[in-house]
Amino acid sequence: MRCFAVFGDPIAHSISPRLHNLAIKKLGIEGFYGRVHLCECGVDALKNRFNALGLNGANITIPHKQTTAKIADKLDIFASATGAVNTLVRRGGGLLGFNTDAPGFMMAISDFKDIQNALIIGAGGTAKALAAALSMSGVSISVLNRSDKSSEFANCEFLSFDSAISVATSFDLVINTTPAGLINSDLPAPQNIMQKFLGGARYAFDAVYGIKTPFLAMADECGLKYKDGKEMLLNQAAIAFCHFFYDYDFRVENIAELMRPALSYD
Ligand code: NDP
Repeated sequence: MRCFAVFGDPIAHSISPRLHNLAIKKLGIEGFYGRVHLCECGVDALKNRFNALGLNGANITIPHKQTTAKIADKLDIFASATGAVNTLVRRGGGLLGFNTDAPGFMMAISDFKDIQNALIIGAGGTAKALAAALSMSGVSISVLNRSDKSSEFANCEFLSFDSAISVATSFDLVINTTPAGLINSDLPAPQNIMQKFLGGARYAFDAVYGIKTPFLAMADECGLKYKDGKEMLLNQAAIAFCHFFYDYDFRVENIAELMRPALSYD
């Protein structure tokens, strides 16, 4: 039997076990996917627990994604670009590290057409993954954050709340990667800035899933086509599943459909 788990702190809220176990069950594969609450940070803590459990692979969430990039023997293109791994696979005597958030996001917005430029609000791990994925597709990126993280986005225009209001550019796509709207009822940036950018955009995307955030409510009022983070969550899991079962010839789209009912369980 192959065993997998999701590592994080906190981890009780993660729906990864039910997404993966549903696909395992429907495909009739011998496998199990659990969860590991790992409070200790650091390379040794993560590697020791992964090895002690004899896992074939794992998904990694906050706050261990950067640490995991250090224990992988080889990184895929998105993990290299972001320095963050959310999928670890034991293969050929080594550990392979993948970032499936980035391609999962690109799949989620595949029906957003002709995106030339995008504004990413927030400057954390998700912002980096999305900036890397969009840049690789030739999209020009600007980043807006409440605090200065310009040194972490060397190839992007970096906007502060003070500078943003006088920027003349409009953006095809505006993305919220902050937890604003999940942890409170705030917009991710002051109202006048949000109105300006959403008013000039065609599409909006929020990495938060399961609720209509104030950001998405404003996008709706502005007449934009918009999505929350549910498809991204589903796609990153389906891509990870295909990495876990690399010796099967699974298609990501098919695995996503097998997992989809698990998104709406109570
Ligand atoms: P990080 O903690 O790495 O980054 C969060 C960013 O948001 C930081 O730049 C922070 O600013 C900013 N921020 C935090 N709170 C606020 C606020 N109240 N108002 C304005 N800005 C704020 O988080 P992640 O990038 O890992 O995750 C961000 C979100 O994306 C989470 O809500 C998470 O659930 C979601 N997510 C969704 C996924 C999916 O599959 N749909 C996958 C991964 C994440 P500062 O730099 O100043 O601290």
